[in-house]
Amino acid sequence: MSYIKKIEYEVVPQESFSVIRNCPGCGVKTNYRNTKRFRVNANGNRLDVWLIYQCEKCKHTLNLTVYERQKAAIIPKDEYQHFLSNDEETAEKYGMNFDFFRKNKADVDMDDITYRYIKLQESSSGPADKIACHEQTLIHIQNPYGLKIRPEKQIAEVLELSRSQVVKLLDRNAITIESISSKNISFCVKATP
Ligand SMILES: [Zn+2]
Repeated sequence: MSYIKKIEYEVVPQESFSVIRNCPGCGVKTNYRNTKRFRVNANGNRLDVWLIYQCEKCKHTLNLTVYERQKAAIIPKDEYQHFLSNDEETAEKYGMNFDFFRKNKADVDMDDITYRYIKLQESSSGPADKIACHEQTLIHIQNPYGLKIRPEKQIAEVLELSRSQVVKLLDRNAITIESISSKNISFCVKATP
């Protein structure tokens, strides 16, 4: 009987990413943080929308473009209201979106990202479906934001082990990685590590 225990986690950022940029106010590279305020500018039937970031030291501002000379009719009404009311959830959504920073040519401070693991579900028994994980625990970590965390670090954090312990367990095949991508990792753990 090939029964397994399956545990699913999701890794999520805890707050908006910060941007590293040379600050004209400070004269050095500093971290800019999300103020969770938007600026909306109407020009005829076109709209510009920015999310305002601010140097954490001197409050120098950095406007990151959300929409540039966009036809007003194209912007969803709900979202437009959120810009006007500085909706925190909307500001966080942009503040955790790598594409948004890439489009703005803004460098996210990868070392400054804080995140946590949420346990989505745990099933105590079930068929081992297509994955060869017999009599073992199958762990799946979803990473929908695409946070750049090394696989062995993710495994170590979820299992509460050190990275060197995980490397040894991988060497001994006590942990085997079944599938891996920038947004997912699945691995099997034999008995208790
Ligand atoms: Zn500054």
